[in-house]
Amino acid sequence: MATSLKFIIQSVIQAIYPENCCICENDLIRGESFICYSCSYDLPYIKNSESDHNRLNSLFTGRVEIERVYALLNYQKGNQVQTILHTIKYKMRPRLAEHLGKLLAQQITVESSFDGIIPLPLHPKKERARGFNQSQAIAEGISEILNIPVWNNCVIRNTSNVSQTKFSKYDRYENVRSIFSVKQNDSLKNKHILLIDDVLTTGATIESCAGELLKSEGCKVSIATLAARI
Ligand SMILES: [Zn+2]
Repeated sequence: MATSLKFIIQSVIQAIYPENCCICENDLIRGESFICYSCSYDLPYIKNSESDHNRLNSLFTGRVEIERVYALLNYQKGNQVQTILHTIKYKMRPRLAEHLGKLLAQQITVESSFDGIIPLPLHPKKERARGFNQSQAIAEGISEILNIPVWNNCVIRNTSNVSQTKFSKYDRYENVRSIFSVKQNDSLKNKHILLIDDVLTTGATIESCAGELLKSEGCKVSIATLAARI
């Protein structure tokens, strides 16, 4: 079945039938959204503390200058956060991504106000196949809470990078180095951008995108992801 058709059918099913918790699969009760209260309580939230922020920021030390890194959940292989990310991407749940984007927004203290939110783009082919871009859905959730516009057409993805799993850390960096281009560099002059991705592991892809944005004069970049491995 074509992926886009599967996406439409999934969306219709979701609209008709009550949803289950995306982690334990129990029926949700009134007031619960996407994740039941019990599973929500057990999620490994990243604390909004200075030490957690320092650990997140240190992922980019010596690589690219990032103002601040925000993340909602601690991702570890096999934990429930991996289930959530898998559900968003492969069971096509943009509304779950948007919901978590709203929770992530609550972590973001706007002491340094942002001018715009940029979701990390997927390659157009990949986005067509998946039916949506998960970073875009997260960005929309954040935008709704923080009242900051989402800028969709600033960055384009030139290539769909090949699987990174076979590469060393250095090769991965080389591999993702020039996969993004920034359009209208002038419009980003002196702007503070909140760059969005779903998960931060090596940081190589988002680093590459941030590097391109930072070529605009006076531009600053912060990062927000649903999950990070710290
Ligand atoms: Zn549950």
